[in-house]
Amino acid sequence: MKINKSFAERINYIRETELQSRAHSKKIVYWEEDSRLRSEQGKALVFILPTRGCSWALSKSGGCSICGYIYDNPQQTDFDSIYDTFQAILKNKLKKEFAYAIKIFTSGSFLDPLEIPEELQLKFTEELSKYEQIKEIVVESRPEYIKGSTLQKIAKVIDVSILEIAIGLESTNNSILMNSINKGFFWEDFEKATKIVKENGAKVKAYLLFKPPFVSEYDSMRDMLQSVKRIISLEIDTISINAVSIHRGTYLSQLFEKHQYRTPWLWSLFYVCKNIKEHFPNLRLICDIVAGGNMRGAHNCGECDQEVIQAIKNFTMSQNVDSLGEEISCSCKNEWKSNLLHEKISISEQVSQKYM
Ligand code: SF4
Ligand SMILES: [Zn+2]
Repeated sequence: MKINKSFAERINYIRETELQSRAHSKKIVYWEEDSRLRSEQGKALVFILPTRGCSWALSKSGGCSICGYIYDNPQQTDFDSIYDTFQAILKNKLKKEFAYAIKIFTSGSFLDPLEIPEELQLKFTEELSKYEQIKEIVVESRPEYIKGSTLQKIAKVIDVSILEIAIGLESTNNSILMNSINKGFFWEDFEKATKIVKENGAKVKAYLLFKPPFVSEYDSMRDMLQSVKRIISLEIDTISINAVSIHRGTYLSQLFEKHQYRTPWLWSLFYVCKNIKEHFPNLRLICDIVAGGNMRGAHNCGECDQEVIQAIKNFTMSQNVDSLGEEISCSCKNEWKSNLLHEKISISEQVSQKYM
């Protein structure tokens, strides 16, 4: 049993209500950003394709407790227009002088045939093979859609060694996956999917989630360290730590609105990155902070937020732990430290009443 039934029922109740106000936009969203490629600094061209969205979020289990991406996915998709726009953007935006990572996201799973039919998965990836400046291709997928047969077909149209499949593992702790996130899969499923990706010559990136509900800041810091160790044992060289931000229409947003959840402290991320990189210097460690400095994202006191965010960004780009080496000082550091202790106590009280 990979779900906690009463937790999943509560999430699904919220989901079904909120899905009534789902988006209708069918436009591709895209942007360009600086990016840390495996061997150099470069650019990333990021696409969000308007597919029907994550099948797990649309299932009777309600999807993940923290995720509201599904509300931005349209109910109808128009693949002809998506593909034409995708082609045109690549043609107009890719410059010869830069090395690029192309990230094709769907707010779900690129390899889920209900989101993108298999022949279109191949068409999208094949289009990328026309551009020499593309050094990395990143798609996201839940483990259950990662199949050897699919990867073998993709390997016929692109150099599969530049393909990275990003999996939102979030934690290697099955209890967190089941009771905090409602992820619907376990560490062992991730392990199996990783094996398939590697056997077929592609790469895996793991996303970890910093501070899901019912896990205190301190325990989440410990969980990040333990999870990184376990992931590295599978010879995965890229891990992205994503700090929770509050998505509307989610189980977590209800906790947040009832003042039963505080978004992560930037200090915690700062020290988690520092600690991990010092222990695993060869790991490409990315830390993604959405809505940083904002109450709905990772934040400190307001005075030091931008400085800490910038230090973490510099670190992600350079992979040089010295970017985090200089002590940034602010009086809120003491508050953060005492919060690490007190939150642990209040969370254990919360857990006992959690599905009420
Ligand atoms: S976090 Fe990923 S798997 Fe979970 S509901 Fe969102 S898109 Fe789906
Ligand atoms: Zn501060």
